[in-house]
Parts: sequence; C-alpha cells; structure tokens
Amino acid sequence: MKKAKAITQRPDTYRIGIKGLVQGVGFRPFVYRIAIDHKLKGWVENRNDGVIMEVNASKEELLRFRDRLLSQAPGASSIESMEILKLDFEFYDSFEIRESKDLSGSITEISPDIAVCNECLVDLKNQAHRKDYPLINCTHCGPRFSIIRDLPYDRSNTTMASFEMCSRCLSEYGDLHDRRYHAQPVACNQCGPVYRLEYKGGDTVDFKEIVTISSELLAGDALMAVKGTGGFHLVCNAFRDGGVAKLRRLKQRNGKPLALMFRSLEEARHYVEIDKKEEAELSSWRRPIVLLKRKREITGGIADNLACLGVMLPYMPFHHLLFEKLETPALVMSSGNFSEEPILISNERAKEQFGSRVDGIVTYNREIFNRVDDSVSAVLRDVPMVLRRARGYAPAPIRTSFDLEGILGTGAELTGSFCMGREHLALMSPYTGDLKNLETFEFYRETYDRYCRLFRFSPSLVVSDLHPDYLSTGFARKLVEENPDIQHISVQHHHAHIASGMLNRGLEGEVLGFSFDGSGYGADGHMWGAEVMMAGYLDFERLFHFEYLPLPGGDMATREPWRMGISYLHRCFGEDLHDLKIPLLEDFSRKDITKITALIQKKINTPLASSAGRLFDAVAAICGLNYFSTYQAEAPMLLEAAIDPNEKGRYSYEIRDGQVSFAPLIRELVEDLHDGRNKGLLAAKFHNTLVGLILELSMEIRAESGQDRIVLGGGTFQNRFLSEKVLDKLEKEHFKVYLPHDIPVNDQGIAAGQLAIGAHRRNLM
Ligand SMILES: [Zn+2]
Ligand SMILES: [Zn+2]
Repeated sequence: MKKAKAITQRPDTYRIGIKGLVQGVGFRPFVYRIAIDHKLKGWVENRNDGVIMEVNASKEELLRFRDRLLSQAPGASSIESMEILKLDFEFYDSFEIRESKDLSGSITEISPDIAVCNECLVDLKNQAHRKDYPLINCTHCGPRFSIIRDLPYDRSNTTMASFEMCSRCLSEYGDLHDRRYHAQPVACNQCGPVYRLEYKGGDTVDFKEIVTISSELLAGDALMAVKGTGGFHLVCNAFRDGGVAKLRRLKQRNGKPLALMFRSLEEARHYVEIDKKEEAELSSWRRPIVLLKRKREITGGIADNLACLGVMLPYMPFHHLLFEKLETPALVMSSGNFSEEPILISNERAKEQFGSRVDGIVTYNREIFNRVDDSVSAVLRDVPMVLRRARGYAPAPIRTSFDLEGILGTGAELTGSFCMGREHLALMSPYTGDLKNLETFEFYRETYDRYCRLFRFSPSLVVSDLHPDYLSTGFARKLVEENPDIQHISVQHHHAHIASGMLNRGLEGEVLGFSFDGSGYGADGHMWGAEVMMAGYLDFERLFHFEYLPLPGGDMATREPWRMGISYLHRCFGEDLHDLKIPLLEDFSRKDITKITALIQKKINTPLASSAGRLFDAVAAICGLNYFSTYQAEAPMLLEAAIDPNEKGRYSYEIRDGQVSFAPLIRELVEDLHDGRNKGLLAAKFHNTLVGLILELSMEIRAESGQDRIVLGGGTFQNRFLSEKVLDKLEKEHFKVYLPHDIPVNDQGIAAGQLAIGAHRRNLM
C-alpha cells in the first residue's frame, strides 16, 4: 500500500526557462530559497540567455512555485518571459544551484549597476566585518556593468578577480541562505578593495579619516575628485560659491548646468518640487539624475536662470557615509572630465589630470572597466523619460517585436551612442558624449568592441546617418571596408528620430511624425531640423518643414544665437533692421551686424537650415536672453525658463507650399518688444505658437489622411512646456501621441531608430 501511494504521488519534472534581466541580481539564490521553501527538488542554472531550472513538482506545486517566482522576484530583476515544459521524470534528491555555463553565441543580459540597497545600509551599521565598509554590496545591489570584463558573470570575469575573499566572505558567498550567496563583488573590511584619500595634508587609507577630512574640506570651498561607480565625479559644496567657481574653472567652460546630490528627499524638497512619480524615479535602484522644477536659488553658477535642477540621491555606500558627516544638504556632483572629453575612470589618469587642481582625490583600488556616466531622466505627465541613458540603464536591452539580429546603428554626432541588434533586442551603448573629438570617439570605439564581445555580436548590416562627415558615419564606412560582406545603408536623421519613438513604443505601420531639433543632414543636402513627416520604418514623406533660413557663419551660428537673431530679422525687415529699437540691435555695433548681413547677402559660409533649434535661438536672442551659447541648447532652455505660464496669447505664422514661415511671428515679437512687454510674455507667446502650429498641422493632415497617431522626436521635445502642452492639446482632439520612454528623445536615440529602419529595409534587400 505504502509503495503504491508513493507512486501515485510521484511528481512530474518541469523545466522552467526564464528570460529577462535575471543575471547578477540574485536571481538564482532567490529561486533556490523559494524551491527550498516549497520543498521542491531539482536545480537552477544561469545561461547566457537567462535562467533555467528543473523541478520535480505536482501541477499545483508547480503553479504555486511559479506564482512566487513572478511575484517576489528581486527588485532589480525583470522577467520578460517564462516557458514551462513538462519532461520525462528525472530523479533529484535535493535542490542545487549549478555552475554557470557559457553558451557562446546566445544572448546575455548583463545587469546595469544598482544603487546600494537598504539592507546593505543596515549591514553597514550592524555587521562587524562590514562596519562602515564603503564598498558593501549584495546580490541585490552594487556594481555590475561597470566591473564586468566578460561573460559569464562570475567574479573571475570582473575587476574583483584580484581580490581574494576572506573566510567570512567566502562562507557567505557559498551559503545559499545568505543574501550574499554568489554576490560576485562581495567584500568586507578585511578582504575587499579600499578607499584612499590624497590631499594637500597627505595620503591616507584610514577610512574614518578619509570621511572626516573629506567632510571638512567640503564644508568649505574645496573641490574634490571622487571615484564613483562608473567614473570620477568632481565634487564641491553646493552652497559655497568658492567651490562652484573652482569647478567651473577646472572644467574650462561655460554655464552648463551642474547636477546636485542631496542627502535625502526631504532636504531636496526645500529646493525643488518633487511629485510622487518623481520621488519614485529619484529613489529607484537606477538612481538617475532627475530634472526637477526649481523652487528657490542655491548658488550662482549651478544652473543659472534655468527652470530645472538636475538632482540625484546618494547611490554608493560612500555617498551615504559622507553625508552622515556633512552638514551641507547637497553636493555638486559633476562628471569628472575636461570639457567634452569622456568621464575619467582610471586612478592614475585622474591624479594626472586633476592632481594639482583639486583639493583632494578620493579613489578606491577596484578598477572601473566599463565607463558609465550618470543617467538623466525627467518625468513628463507622470511618465519617466530617460534623456541620457547610461548608469543604471546600460547595457539593459530594449525589446522589440521584430528581428534585429546583426544590425548596428552607429548613431549621430551629438550625444553619441550606437545600438546593436541581437534577435529581438536593441542593445544601446551608454551615452558616450559628443562625437566631436578623438577622446570621445575612442571611448565610442572601445565600447563598441566591448559590446561585441559581451553580446557575441558581429554586424551583417551597418546603418549610419546621411551626414558624410560624422565620425559615426566614418566608423560605419570603416567596418564595411574591413569586411565587404557587411552591408551599409544611410538613414535620414529626422526619420530615425521618429523610427526610434516607434520602436520604443511598439508601433507598426505609418505615423505622423514631428521631428524637431537643432540640425540633421537633409535628404536634399540642406540642414533639416523641423520636419513634419508621414513615416513608417521603411520610409518617410516630408509634408511640412520650417522655412529655410541662412545660418550666417555655419557652425558659428549654432554657438552664437545672435547670428540667428540677425538672420531672422534680416529675413523680415531687410536693411531696415538697423532701425529697430530692440536690445539685440543695441547690444551689437552696426559694424558687427553688417558683417552678418553681408554673409547672408553674399552667401558666404551660410548654409540653409530648416531648424526648430535655430528658431528658438533666434527668438531667445531677439528677446535679449542669450547671444552666445556656452553649452548645447542653452538659448532654448533659457527661453523655456522665461515663460510666464499665465500668458495664453500667441503669434502668427504663414504656411505656403509646405513651408512654415515665422516672419509674422518675428514682426509681432518685435512689436511687443517696442511696446515694452516683458520677456515672460514673449517666451510664452512663442511657445504657444508652436503648440498651435503642431495642432493645426495635425488636424489638417488627419482630415486628409485619417492619420491619428503622432510620434514626437528630436531634442526640441526635451522642452517640457512644449511637450506637455502638445500632448494636452492633441489628446484633447483624440490623437494618440507618443514620445519615447526608455530611449532618449534626443540624438542618443538616433541609433535605435537606425536599427529599426535597417531591420525593415533589410527585408527588401
Ligand atoms: Zn545590498
Ligand atoms: Zn571579506
């Protein structure tokens, strides 16, 4: 009898395959603990393409087990799919975690770096061997992408390889019930990497001293270089003019806004507005810099005259420990680089570069292998949008419904990025900076090589921008030269913006696209940048665009908005512009202005551009807000910040033969200036005009084509006022409006759009 019962109760063997972000986030031990809880026998194993397990279970047991896997998965993991297969019975007498297997050629998902978790923050106070250990981590948190050299994700393939675990750490690492079971970077005060501070008073590895001295320095006007997760930060007290001024001097530039790290949400609330969604974004394990509406001033030089501040919360144990000692509620945390070069990652280079120019350098002796800057995001009508995709995001893939295998998008120029396709996954590189100098290009190429290795990628189709002179286009040409089997196609910049939004939002077929930005190479050889198009993945039809205007001095005109101001005024008033009584005309000499008008008349170094960015520049300059830009999109950002939200008025424009002329807008703007109207009113009326234009064109196009799906793309839509108003107005008229969420709407997103277009064109090749 007894035996018979045992046979009827004999369970089946099920194989469960899980795909998604399940490596390096404590997934296997999580599975183990649940299996033990449910008294199931079998095993679990990491594969390059996910996690696979087999269990002996009855149908009910299997379902209960499955439900817990789905509902209680570790915070930073994400399950994309789960497949359950019934197998012939296999006898297991225990549940075990099996060693990782390297299945080359298959896709791997590597976890992005994860902010220190709350449990580790508690351990930081309570665990004797990790008391104040500044590199504490566990399977739920800590460095990942930044330290990984190769797959599978095992300690020996990370920059932790050279640190031998002490017996305590080793026993935790080997204990299935411990949160540090197989935590690859596990370490403690006895065996792990250590911090070091070098400053004018000496050199110390005593951590208590490091924190004390750093906090004393940062209480004053010191500037420090501090090694972060994916690179160095330049750090100073956000409330000390002296520190901020030093930082500005060292970075040799401009008014580019600086990011802040606040001790806590509560402290940040005094200075910025934070709603529920923004709070969640700030506190997420990705810990991006979040752009938040400013409530009050901090210190001059941080983000002068801008509407938003970039804010983040502590994400490394060191940050938390430092803030315990610091009185200031916020530090400036700026990327540790010079001007437009990539963020520094090596201790030696940082000492070389910053050495005498900072008051202290804090390093630790674990190498950063993959450089990864802080990410930036903003919450737009309750939806987080990533604007710079780097730490916390890279190298997590974006899933698509179509096959991207073997396709590489090489991206554009500004905010450089490439994107490679493996099966249905788009793998975006982290932000690599503006591809305008050798250093950033070197970073781009190096990241490309590493991605190829990590993701077992080799391209069969390379997609680049139409612009022949972009370094990213040259890179595509070189790949094809080296391997003639690779096919190469070029894609128009603004089409790629729309395709990028479509890919991210899972759209098929055709959409109406508004692709607004500074500039991109047009299909007609002119510069484009304000394109209204009917677009699908294969192709696009340009329906409307802003009137072409001369860019006096070419590239100079993008750095000097006053030149665009003169160009627009010249378009409207001709030589009479000299008689206008507006600030722009008063702030420049007649000689300067004549130089610009001469360039326009003689067509010397004055390409034509249809550009939203340049229109913003011109209006900002005519309003007297910005004549010379010290960073990208400065004039548009100042113009947005100037808006008086109560002003509902707008200006006029003309549409003729598919071209939108803003000559009427410029004339009315000048009248308002003559009448002494304030800049808040001018800025609001200007923005309202664009919102009205987008609505009018959408209605007109829908009336003809029936198209009611709209995709917004291009850097101009980082303008929150504009995007929110456009969404409001269009949705009120029952349009379906899409912005990308996980892919930056700016030029970093171009590579993903190229990938999507390439995937569809390939089918026709
Ligand atoms: Zn942890
Ligand atoms: Zn240890």
